[in-house]
Amino acid sequence: MRKYFFISIFIISSHLIFGCSKNDNPVQTTNEQSETIVEKYGALKVNGSQIVDKNGNSVSLRGMSLFWSQWGGNYYNAETIEWLRDDWKCAIVRAAMGIENGGYLENPSYELEKVKTVIDACIELGIYVIVDWHDHHAEDHLEEAKSFFNSISAEYGSHPNIIYEIYNEPLNVSWNSVLKPYSEEIINVIRANDPDNLIVVGTSNWSQDVDLVINNKIDSENIAYSFHFYSSTHKKDLMDKAEKAINAGIPIFVTEWGMSEATGNGIIDMVALNEWSDFLENYNLSWCNWSITNKDETSAALLPSNQKLSEWNENELSESGKIIRDYLIRKNSQIFDELTK
Ligand code: MG
Repeated sequence: MRKYFFISIFIISSHLIFGCSKNDNPVQTTNEQSETIVEKYGALKVNGSQIVDKNGNSVSLRGMSLFWSQWGGNYYNAETIEWLRDDWKCAIVRAAMGIENGGYLENPSYELEKVKTVIDACIELGIYVIVDWHDHHAEDHLEEAKSFFNSISAEYGSHPNIIYEIYNEPLNVSWNSVLKPYSEEIINVIRANDPDNLIVVGTSNWSQDVDLVINNKIDSENIAYSFHFYSSTHKKDLMDKAEKAINAGIPIFVTEWGMSEATGNGIIDMVALNEWSDFLENYNLSWCNWSITNKDETSAALLPSNQKLSEWNENELSESGKIIRDYLIRKNSQIFDELTK
């Protein structure tokens, strides 16, 4: 019953969705004409709690996360990425390379090639790409992670498109004794090849405990911290935690969020979704929404019957897919319209 209630709410209020943000026009226009998103914003940097572009202006990158590469690998191709840029107005795409469960640990070269296909497409298309070590036990896979990020940073570290996400969602492990040392080791590997690109570090409890980083940041340049939420499960106490961190100068990057419950499935709570989207816009945060796949679950943007890799019409999108595409187009179109390519 509850599900149908929220579907009704959606139908009634869909034209109002995300309508009450305080930051509807965050784009700062300049006279310069850029060809692509990455040419416009250039090398990203951390400045206090903000992520800023090459001119020092706070930037909000909005886009989509792909699904786990070992299960959603068919979408790891240039055709899909181009559609996500041109039709969905994604400024950023996240390649979520699965590690366990038949992922990189078992098939390293196969999964690496999928990620490189996405990276190459994003460089060609001039959008940002998050290279995500999509793991819940990365501290147990330190050598594999070092090898992977050494390879990626050596090959792609000169491209401003690349954002390294070195640990998707740690479980309930210590920031001080597990996550911080893991992150420092990976950061050292990346920095030997790439002195400057943004690195996003995972935080404990599924990348929720950003408050634990307060007064305990990693001593390195251009480091941000992951904050994840699922708006139908997570409510004000989690938002308070993020606001506390931001207000204490912690730069957070929402590398993954969903409008479903935390399982990836369940209801879409439209009231909570609006509150979370206001949060994202008010703090001008960068984010990727979970996810581009046709799995039969709420957070999947494509319907299970949709087998196409691009050119999806409205009837081939799930409820969450329609909502997030509308959101991206509404928020990002002006940015793309100013580009020459
Ligand atoms: Mg670099």
